[in-house]
Amino acid sequence: MNKSNVERTFAMIKPDGVRRGLVGEIIKRYEQKGLRIVAAKLIKADRNTVEEHYSDLRSRSFFNELVEYILSGPIMVMILEGENAIKLVRMINGATRVEEALPGTIRGDYATSTAQNIVHGSDNYENAQREINLWFPELRTNETRKLSVL
Ligand code: UDP
Ligand code: MG
Repeated sequence: MNKSNVERTFAMIKPDGVRRGLVGEIIKRYEQKGLRIVAAKLIKADRNTVEEHYSDLRSRSFFNELVEYILSGPIMVMILEGENAIKLVRMINGATRVEEALPGTIRGDYATSTAQNIVHGSDNYENAQREINLWFPELRTNETRKLSVL
């Protein structure tokens, strides 16, 4: 019997996704696959948070452009929970490179460039924890920095 692996991940609908009216379509795809929305909010990100979120890409040539893109309009940030949620969200989102994003994935169906690719999903457990804490500071408990129960 397989051991269950219920976990939480962080997902973001980037400004182009919100601007193009894809919020409902994207959330539908996550929910359809059994993921539960633990928390969600539509926000205008601040620069420090975005730079911290993408801190591992700081040395890349596209970093400044990436930060400006995420700051270009409202984004929807969310915590999703479910069996293998981290991998599942990335599968539903599709490949990073626009020419590799398969039809049936969000990026495959909607993204028109690698840079502006509609959605983000955490790529591993440590980053999921880090990104949840970064974008949902109000859900941290002061001492443990862990999420309060939702
Ligand atoms: N990105 C870009 N050019 C690239 C690679 C990535 O503009 O050549 C942007 C794109 O928006 C991507 C984000 O930077 O989603 C983060 O890159 P990463 O490699 O972490 O891809 P992801 O985890 O989002 O699939
Ligand atoms: Mg990434």
